[in-house]
Amino acid sequence: MKNKLQNLKNILYEVDDLQKAAAVLYWDQSTYMPAGGAVGRGNQLSTLSKVAHEKFVDTAVGKLLDDLQPYADSLPDDDDDARLINVVRRDYDKATKVPSTLLAELYGHVAASYQAWTKARPSNDFEMVRPYLEKTLDLSRQIANCFPDYDHIADPLIDRSDEGMKTAVIRQIFSDLRTELVPLVQAITDLPEPDNSFLFKHYPEQKQLDFGMKAAIQYGFDTHRGRQDKTHHPFMTSFGHGDIRITTRVNEHRFDDALFSTLHEAGHAMYEMGIRPELDRTPLANGTSSGVHESQSRLWENIVGRSYEFWQHYYPQLQTVFPENLNDVSLDAFYRAINKVSKSLIRTDADEVTYNLHVMIRFDLSIQLLEGTLEVKDLPEAWNSRYQSDLGLQAPNDVDGVLQDVHWYSGVIGGSFQGYTLGNIMSSLFYEQALKAHPSIPAEIAQGEFGTLHGWLRENLYQHGRKYTANELIKRTTGGDLTITPYLNYLHGKFRKLYNIS
Ligand code: ZN
Repeated sequence: MKNKLQNLKNILYEVDDLQKAAAVLYWDQSTYMPAGGAVGRGNQLSTLSKVAHEKFVDTAVGKLLDDLQPYADSLPDDDDDARLINVVRRDYDKATKVPSTLLAELYGHVAASYQAWTKARPSNDFEMVRPYLEKTLDLSRQIANCFPDYDHIADPLIDRSDEGMKTAVIRQIFSDLRTELVPLVQAITDLPEPDNSFLFKHYPEQKQLDFGMKAAIQYGFDTHRGRQDKTHHPFMTSFGHGDIRITTRVNEHRFDDALFSTLHEAGHAMYEMGIRPELDRTPLANGTSSGVHESQSRLWENIVGRSYEFWQHYYPQLQTVFPENLNDVSLDAFYRAINKVSKSLIRTDADEVTYNLHVMIRFDLSIQLLEGTLEVKDLPEAWNSRYQSDLGLQAPNDVDGVLQDVHWYSGVIGGSFQGYTLGNIMSSLFYEQALKAHPSIPAEIAQGEFGTLHGWLRENLYQHGRKYTANELIKRTTGGDLTITPYLNYLHGKFRKLYNIS
């Protein structure tokens, strides 16, 4: 059995090497590659991912998994090898149950769909992408139907990024959250808006980058195993245990873009940096789900990075870096500005409170499309009516409406949005547990010290990688199931105080 396990691991190591090599190429494409490299890079990425996929779905892997299953079942439940075999079994089934012809059709189609979207969006032409979206919906249903045991057709699609999460559970949780958020947003936005004009003064690029990196390093981002570069759409990528990259973008006339993007991506990176090195080069050496990954980026970006305590420590330093912009601005005024809540049409510009409403609209519409209770041709109208009911806003055009996000035009419909809000919910859930264990954390943050919080997260979440699912991590840390109570307590506590709402 030890030999067979080693054989399996050797294949997994090679698959991982190929995937990490592709990640390096993708990172280069998104940071430094000249435009002329696009065609060649596309070929290289597609070849590498094809070779990695073929290596993984090889019948030899299936045979090894079959042979190793009794061994995995004989080991203690939380043994690394048992967990590895079971995770690989699930990945293998997911990768092999979808016929390669269907996958090829999907990849070809979404590439064309994305191209169409890049033209349709600037010309505000939903009709141009409608036929693509209809086919995407059809292909998404076909992929879901490769896993016919589902309770809901969206379950297999959600399972691709948030393993074990079910549509029915998420729907209930989101509906409960929406019931609380809509009136909270209304109560806040009925009040006068705090002034945030000083965030839009001139903030030189290098000073912004230096300040963000300094905070990320104090958080615990390890520059011996990572670096930051510039890109258009910030992301984090891992090349393995020793090299985890983050990216950011800088707007010299908007202070809150680069810094919070850096803190966000640093949160993703610290999660990956904290995975036990013994798991490296295996499928366990990843974040366990998009929701848990997002919980860590949001925890470090929002719960810590937008907290009063954080700025008690950092604001005097920030004033020293940008005296001409901030010397006349008090800490309280700055804190209110970076936490300003406003109704807007654009998800990526949204604040902590309204952000989830944007996500839930997209999640619900995806589900309705998959169920067949909503047709693609009626999507713009459905989009607009939800913005009206949830945010009291009407998009002037589809560019700021249904054509806004790339997700539906570059991948399957279903499974791509829930992770953002699950992440917010889980960020508070985990933070609450860290506070229970270490009530001194807020006082430490006010001193610019993050080691206790980082240590708790490493111990309870990061080190495990994919060894435990999101639901298992929640059970292990809280003893219960996913609940929105800590998140609601956080939002109500922070924003009712900030806006003086009883
Ligand atoms: Zn993120």
